[in-house]
Amino acid sequence: MTPLPASTDVFVIGGGPAGLAAAIAARRKGYQVTVADSAVPPVDKACGEGIMPDGLAAARSLGLELDAAPGHVFRGIRFRDRGAAVQAEFPHGVGRGVRRTGLHLMMVEAAADAGVRMLWGTGVTGIAPEGVWTGGEMVRARWIVGADGGNSRVRKWAGLDAAHRESRRYGFRRHYRVQDPGDYMELHWGDNCQMYLTPVGEHELCAVLISRDPRKRLSTELAGFPEAAARLAAAESLNHERGGITATRRLRAVARGNVALVGDASGSVDAITGEGLCLLFQHATALAAAIETGSLEPYREAHRHIGRRPEFMSDMMLLLDGRHRLRRRAIRAMAGEPRLFARMLALHVGDSSFTNFLAGGLALGWRMVSL
Ligand SMILES: Cc1cc2nc3c(=O)[nH]c(=O)nc-3n(C[C@H](O)[C@H](O)[C@H](O)COP(=O)(O)OP(=O)(O)OC[C@H]3O[C@@H](n4cnc5c(N)ncnc54)[C@H](O)[C@@H]3O)c2cc1C
Repeated sequence: MTPLPASTDVFVIGGGPAGLAAAIAARRKGYQVTVADSAVPPVDKACGEGIMPDGLAAARSLGLELDAAPGHVFRGIRFRDRGAAVQAEFPHGVGRGVRRTGLHLMMVEAAADAGVRMLWGTGVTGIAPEGVWTGGEMVRARWIVGADGGNSRVRKWAGLDAAHRESRRYGFRRHYRVQDPGDYMELHWGDNCQMYLTPVGEHELCAVLISRDPRKRLSTELAGFPEAAARLAAAESLNHERGGITATRRLRAVARGNVALVGDASGSVDAITGEGLCLLFQHATALAAAIETGSLEPYREAHRHIGRRPEFMSDMMLLLDGRHRLRRRAIRAMAGEPRLFARMLALHVGDSSFTNFLAGGLALGWRMVSL
């Protein structure tokens, strides 16, 4: 057990990807950083495990070379909807599927190399302006970072729970051994649910089902996705389904006093975007820069800016959830004009402007009307 320090410059509550990223970024600025997590590595979580090219770039700017993480490359995204399919490659770079436990171990190692003090199996029970409570002891801290996930207690303790908007969906994840995982991340659209398949190893695929119904499971809904079912028919499942909640949540404020929230604790976009990890890497960089100025004000502004594009994309994609006829028309229209899909993907990964996207959207609308 690492002993509790009496004090630290930055205390990070939660040692998931957001907490570790924030800790690494703050260490790189020269601060003493302590991270506490009630769990012990490697921490697993229901996740689609796909990191988009912009996410890999955001990790790289923290010194995290995730391209070298054990996993599998994907070159683009493919949508499938009962016989119709449309795909596009990323305009620049590639994405990477990395199993969650592998990602966590790699980040723990990077944090240790950076000199972060890590307290595993250490739950935080409260915060005060002068520091953090754990196991009945106070660790004094100049800055407190809440990286304790979507169900954040730090958010509540700091009075940051008020949200502009909030909705939830449920995700279930399972890994399969397959002959060929392919080199695209595939999003299969079903009725009121989606399944996505991410290559995460030479012979491994991560499958996730997302819906608004907590009773739906991969195993019960697979028949509704004929193409995915065909791919998984001969595949050996490697584990049981692991569930999680994916929230669309925008908070009114992500910092107060000396407390800042990062990652899912600070709000999130629906898992369907595959942008959760990218966002938290960006939060980490922005927060460390703000701490350096001695004020969290720049972080509030940066956080708003970072979330704008993924929130928009999340809204666009969720528009198609449950609207079967609209969705099928849109996918058929894009299949007939794949450049439109490529434009949307470019905006999704931050490689294009909203103006370009709107031009694409108008062209898509025209094609849908003329189908
Ligand atoms: C079904 C699903 C699929 C997804 N697919 C993708 C995808 O393909 N690509 C992508 O980029 N993102 C995806 N996401 C989003 C991504 O998983 C999250 O954005 C990411 O896990 C958030 O990380 P985090 O560190 O903020 O939170 P978490 O990973 O939840 O970590 C929080 C940590 O805080 C610790 N903790 C909590 N309370 C305390 C306490 N009081 N004291 C100490 N420790 C505490 C927990 O033990 C945990 O380790 C998906 C999410 C879901 C649900």
